[in-house]
Amino acid sequence: MAIVVAKFGGTSVGTGKRIRKAAQSVVNEYMQGNKVVVVVSAINKTTDESIKLVNESIGNNVTEKQLAGILAMGEMQSVRIMSATIESLGVKSEYIDPFNSKWPVITDSNYLNAKIDRNETQRAVNEHITKLIDQGIIPVICGFLGRDMEGSVTTLGRGGSDVSAFLIGHCIGADEVIIVTDVKGVMSTDPRKLNTARKLDKITVEEMIDLANYGAQVLHPNALRFKDPNIKAKIISYEYGDLRVQGTDIVGPSYVEDDVITITKIEDKLSVLAVVGEDLMSKQGIIAEITQKVNEKGLSIYGISTGESSITLFFKEKDAQKAHEVLHDLVIKGDRLSSISLGQKIAMISLVSHDFIDTPGIIASITKPLHDNDINIVELSSSQTAVVVFVDWNDGDKAYKLIKETLQ
Ligand code: ADP
Ligand code: ASP
Ligand code: MG
Repeated sequence: MAIVVAKFGGTSVGTGKRIRKAAQSVVNEYMQGNKVVVVVSAINKTTDESIKLVNESIGNNVTEKQLAGILAMGEMQSVRIMSATIESLGVKSEYIDPFNSKWPVITDSNYLNAKIDRNETQRAVNEHITKLIDQGIIPVICGFLGRDMEGSVTTLGRGGSDVSAFLIGHCIGADEVIIVTDVKGVMSTDPRKLNTARKLDKITVEEMIDLANYGAQVLHPNALRFKDPNIKAKIISYEYGDLRVQGTDIVGPSYVEDDVITITKIEDKLSVLAVVGEDLMSKQGIIAEITQKVNEKGLSIYGISTGESSITLFFKEKDAQKAHEVLHDLVIKGDRLSSISLGQKIAMISLVSHDFIDTPGIIASITKPLHDNDINIVELSSSQTAVVVFVDWNDGDKAYKLIKETLQ
């Protein structure tokens, strides 16, 4: 007997027919002998429409607390309809909203982007939700919403019902979390932007987090923070009305604790190569030319950065001579690059954390201890979840130690 959390997004419950289809898929799952917890979003664009109404009626004078209370109505409506539809199909169900004594998602009082209190939420899930499923009742819980210690409604940020689903899945010890949405799964790109998009059969947690952080709406970037390695997860389309349909499996480890930063220094020495040329930004295809040459020789690039008049590349020291030769060839055979230089030995330190995206000043906290200790940063690159720092090889161990001491 498995525990399954099924989350239905706005479109999946966008009409009466779809709600019935969703409810039927939940009941079918239950009839297979599984315990099901349902998480629902607001119907269709209800949240957008409420925001528009508030903008027109109140404008900036609305308080965050008031707005959270108003937005909550969307999910409060959909859980009632979904739960009643499940009951109409002959299975016991209870809807649970933040005003219910069995409400599980407990947060701080940041009304529109509330932080989850894991301990309190775990306690509430154990006390109320587990009990319900053990009694054969299907709980239908509002996605997106939380409740603070004062009993006020909070929200987890736009798109937050994905977070609710994985959070509840984690706390209840689910075997599987299923996100039901309006696409067949995770695609090679947003199908609304390119109609050549193709469905992926699987994606790793890390890839999905990066994709989401860069704006792919299909899953909230914070949702997978709560995915235990042993919980199965998939994204499927509502169209089939079947929770067993194949969509995209989200695979992988990453039970990423809040505030965890992984800091590593790669063992190998790197070498830096700088290719210079005039006005490189306007020279189309120049990076492709460089990487293709290097690729033909089977050499891996550990880092690349571009500027107005130079492109810097990092290779393992053992590959640098070969890279130097092929790129020099490119310089002298064409007329777009003027010169290349093979520089110093480099140490590479990489930092990965899912919290970087919402941690202001993270770069400063990495660079300050280096600056205070006279360590020069040769290159620094950052993305939403990773920062890579290149320093002189001789400074590597010290820089690594300083960064670790500051951040961990
Ligand atoms: P729901 O209301 O079910 O939560 P969302 O609108 O939040 O649905 O997310 C689904 C949408 O995500 C899709 O309709 C699609 O336009 C968008 N999307 C963006 N990038 C991708 C992608 N790589 N794969 C699939 N969908 C994507
Ligand atoms: N209804 C909320 C929103 O539109 C939450 C969600 O859909 O995940 O943002
Ligand atoms: Mg969504």
